Amino acid sequence: MSEMVPLQAVLNGRVPTLGVDATGRRGCPLSDLRERLRRAGLRPTRQRLSLGWLLFGRGDRHLTAEMLYDEAMRAKVPVSLATVYNTLHQFTEAGLLRQLALDGSKAYFDTNPTEHHHFYLEEEAAVIDMPDCGITVDSLPEAPEGMEIAGVEVIVRLRRRRPAGRRSQG
Ligand SMILES: [Zn+2]
Repeated sequence: MSEMVPLQAVLNGRVPTLGVDATGRRGCPLSDLRERLRRAGLRPTRQRLSLGWLLFGRGDRHLTAEMLYDEAMRAKVPVSLATVYNTLHQFTEAGLLRQLALDGSKAYFDTNPTEHHHFYLEEEAAVIDMPDCGITVDSLPEAPEGMEIAGVEVIVRLRRRRPAGRRSQG
């Protein structure tokens, strides 16, 4: 497993978040978090509280396990990368996070578990929520026999425009 944190841009810089927080809240006190874990059926252990604090204390975010691990190290939270992975998957199973399938090599977790769409900046590996008005999906195929459509998630991949007239040869 790679120790590299490839998303320094996301960690250090401010990646613009368009839809900030579905509930309109910017953070949650520790007691709220404890209650949230309990309601999701998770025992509020120290590790879950610490990681949950990092995850949910700053509005809607999209992170990989490596990003959260790096934040935990900086916040002096004594956890292993394996614990971070396990916790992210437990939170996801409990409905507190959503896992996004953006590219095959790394899993992103979204702290906003409600259905919404994303921009993905391929070169920076950055994920941005699409504004609510950003897309209308109104012509879906029929679900196969015995199935129904449970949700639709759109990922629009972005890349920076190349400056005009400065093409590299080829
Ligand atoms: Zn999102």
